[in-house]
Amino acid sequence: MSLDWMLSAVCAGVDPELWHGAGGNISKAKRICASCPVRPQCEAYGRDLEGAASLKDRHGVWGGTDAKARSRRRKQARPVRDDRDARILRLAERGMTPREIAAQLDISDRTVNRVKATTERSAA
Ligand code: SF4
Repeated sequence: MSLDWMLSAVCAGVDPELWHGAGGNISKAKRICASCPVRPQCEAYGRDLEGAASLKDRHGVWGGTDAKARSRRRKQARPVRDDRDARILRLAERGMTPREIAAQLDISDRTVNRVKATTERSAA
C-alpha cells in the first residue's frame, strides 16, 4: 500500500501525541483532521492497522474518527458489493492512488475513496 498520501497530511509536523498519546486531545485532533485532504485514506489506514480489534484495543484518532466511531463503522461496513469494488481494492493494494484508480476504471475519485473507506477489506 502506498503511503504517499501522508505527504499531504495536515498533521505532519504536529506532535503525534495529540492523536495517539495517553494525554491526547481528541477534540483538538478531530478539529485539525476536519481540514485534512487525506481523511479517507487516513481512516482506511487506521482501520487496516486495527483490523478486527475490539473497541478496547483501538486507540487514537485516524481520519478524524475516534476508536468508538471506527469500531461502529467496521460493524456497519458492507461486504464487497461487486466486481468493481473488488477491482478498486486490488488496485489500491498495488499502491495506485485514488486518482489513478479512478482514471483506469472511469469512475470518480470520490467513488474510489468511498469504496476504500466503507468496504470491509477482510471480505475482499
Ligand atoms: S486525517 Fe487527521 S490524522 Fe489523518 S493525516 Fe489528516 S490530520 Fe493527520
